[in-house]
This record gives sequence, C-alpha cells and structure tokens, in this order.
Amino acid sequence: MRRWMLAGNWKMHLTIRESTALARAVVEGTQGASGGDVIVAPVFTALASVAGVLKGSHVAMAGQNVFYEEKGAYTGEVAPAMLRDAGCVYAIIGHSERRKYFHETDGTVNARIKKALPAGLKPIVCVGETEEEREKGVTEFVIGQQVKVGLYGIESLEHVTVAYEPVWAIGTGKNATPAQAQAVHVFIRGLLTDAYGGTAAGSVRLLYGGSVTPDNIGQLISMEDIDGALVGGASLKSESFISIIKTVSGR
Ligand code: PEP
Repeated sequence: MRRWMLAGNWKMHLTIRESTALARAVVEGTQGASGGDVIVAPVFTALASVAGVLKGSHVAMAGQNVFYEEKGAYTGEVAPAMLRDAGCVYAIIGHSERRKYFHETDGTVNARIKKALPAGLKPIVCVGETEEEREKGVTEFVIGQQVKVGLYGIESLEHVTVAYEPVWAIGTGKNATPAQAQAVHVFIRGLLTDAYGGTAAGSVRLLYGGSVTPDNIGQLISMEDIDGALVGGASLKSESFISIIKTVSGR
C-alpha cells in the first residue's frame, strides 16, 4: 500500500513572512491527516524560516531544485547538503519550468538525482510532454526518454518519487483527465517494472501535476496509479491546499 503524497510547489512566490504564515496555516489545517506525506517547497530565501515553523510537525519541506556539485564556484546554485542543512527532506528535480527556462536536460536531471540521494535528499523527479508532443503522438517516447535517462544508474528507487506533469497542464487551468493521467502513470510504472522489478516499481509513488484544484483532486486520486499530486497555484492559498489534502487523506 503506497502512502499518498501532496507537495505544494510555491515557485517564485511569497516573501519570508508570507511563506511562514502559509506554512503555519498548512500545519494547523491538516493536523491528523494520516496515511501520507504533506510537503511544501518555498523559495530558497524562505527555507530556513519555514523549517522553523515545520519543526516537529507532520509537514516536510522540499527545495525547488538542487545542484549536482557539492560546493565551489557555481554562482547562484545550491548544493544537496545545503538544502539538508536548511531543513529540506525532498528536492524537486527536473520541473518543466527548469527545463524550459534554464535549459535543464535529462542528463542534468540524472546528475542532480545522483548527488541528491547520497546527501539524504529524496528526489521528486518531474517528467511530462508538451502539447505539441502529445498531438504528434510521441508522449510515451518522450516520457520514456525522460524516465530512462533521468534515472540512469540509479540503483534503488526507495527514496524516489516521480511526478507526471504534462507541460500543457501546468498553470493553464487545463488538467489532464484522470484517465489520461492514469494511462501515463501505468506506462511509467511499466518502465520502472522493466528496470527494477515489480516489487520496487509497485512501491514508487507517482504524482500527477498540472492544474490540480480542490474540484478535480477527488477524481484524480481515485485512479489506481495516482498516488498524490504536485500542486502549484492551488498550494499558494491555504484554503485550497488544505482542501486538497483533506480530500486525499479522507478527512
Ligand atoms: C507545478 O508547479 O508543478 C504545477 C503543477 O503547477 P499548477 O498546479 O499551477 O499547474
């Protein structure tokens, strides 16, 4: 039985004060949500302060990205151990906005995962096709490449989560239908089964991301292979994120 996971990606939003207030509201509003993991991913500047709010609570923290070197002359980057030091347990890796605006590739995604895991960070690895790729009928080819190259050489999936985020659904208000998302999740689990065997693949949590709201989460989470969600816009308001968490946790 896989635990559910709901991760709020705050992207480049919120001041430190706003971030700590939202984190506090999420902690207080989701007390007793059992059987899963609640995660928030603030901007880097707010990580340490949000960690103070989350300390001792059921809510964990993620970095929105992580670099693949431990230290050095890499202006603007943050190393895995630095995220751990700031209180992160997870790191989002390969978000489509990182791929689109900062030219991250499946190769750099792979390098990041390889450095995050030994540092004790659990990667949430994002994959997803563009609208054009879906229309051309190459969704499975694209996802296949992203998963195979992204996870190349990763020996164990124990601490790895994969988020299927169709690019056309992110921030557009146009979510994938539960059936569309489930089909891709089954495909991803099949790839993981081929590479790691059924037991390991069956334990990996697969999240859906792309315009998740309190209105559509119920149907999405009812699908067998959808174990939770990576939530952008709807995680920026405590009411909507708490409502999503309550739906998924059944309370
Ligand atoms: C995301 O940031 O990963 C995301 C899915 O955003 P949104 O929920 O706003 O589509």
